[in-house]
Amino acid sequence: MTDLRGGIDLGGTKIQTVVVDSGGNLHGKARQPTPTSGGPADVADAMEDALREAASAAGAKPERLAGIGVGSPGDADGKTGVVSGARNLPGWDGSFPLGETLSKALGTKVRIGNDVQVAVEGEYRLGAGKPYDSLLGVWWGTGVGGGIVLGGEPWLGRGAAGEIGHTVVKRNGARCPCGRRGCLEAYAGRAAMEARARRDLAKGVATDLFEIMEKRGKDRLTSSVWEHAMREEDPLTESLLRRALRYLGTGIASAVNLLDVEAVVIGGGLGSRFGDRFMDHLTKEMHKHLFVDDNPPRMHVAELGDLGGAVGASLLVAS
Ligand SMILES: [Zn+2]
Repeated sequence: MTDLRGGIDLGGTKIQTVVVDSGGNLHGKARQPTPTSGGPADVADAMEDALREAASAAGAKPERLAGIGVGSPGDADGKTGVVSGARNLPGWDGSFPLGETLSKALGTKVRIGNDVQVAVEGEYRLGAGKPYDSLLGVWWGTGVGGGIVLGGEPWLGRGAAGEIGHTVVKRNGARCPCGRRGCLEAYAGRAAMEARARRDLAKGVATDLFEIMEKRGKDRLTSSVWEHAMREEDPLTESLLRRALRYLGTGIASAVNLLDVEAVVIGGGLGSRFGDRFMDHLTKEMHKHLFVDDNPPRMHVAELGDLGGAVGASLLVAS
């Protein structure tokens, strides 16, 4: 047995795997596209292949790893290893015993956690959150996820804590992908921003967003499409991004007023891409709503980059 362990970040478009030591140092990595058809068993097969590839790059056999951690979307039950309702994955509306399946396939124990929570814990232990005992992670991407660390420990509540994207920033406000109204994600999530852009386009609002999308061979407004449209000073892009930042500032300030954390770490697809550029703007929007305004939290962009989710997942394996 070595102290090497595996981490798997299961995303809607890609599966990222790493093999790291107990200090989080990288020994091997691999990446595979997430299957777009089939069902959970096919996704588990692709995860197994990607983990074997990372292990081989690290010169290790999967069954010799101290364990493997998985950051999963949907409702990921850390106790049973069952993942339910991962709707951005093919055929995964129901429940699937992901932990048990991977454990049998790879010959070592597997622990499952929430994808955003493990990424936030990665930042807390190895990245931008290292100097602090408390922090709020805000993962700004397709949706808006979050994770909380309080007194040096992840705060999971009864399992579902950290959903800052579904805190209400406007009563009877915009429709959220969750079906409710006025959630932060309804204004700042990439999917909700795209839905709004499509409605505006249908109403005759001029925008280059969808031409840029087609030119780049995409079928949705990825964060790189938003970035290109912003560089071209597309007015609709600017107004939707400003609106997203306004509501992100509102939601983050409310959470800070409640929790009084030392730091806020911004990650996720849009957060990592735009965090540095927009941090001053976001901080200003947050300040407007801070109750104690002479001791604001420190603001950071996530530091672990593309591998952060997988490295964070590896921390699920006990040292
Ligand atoms: Zn919602």
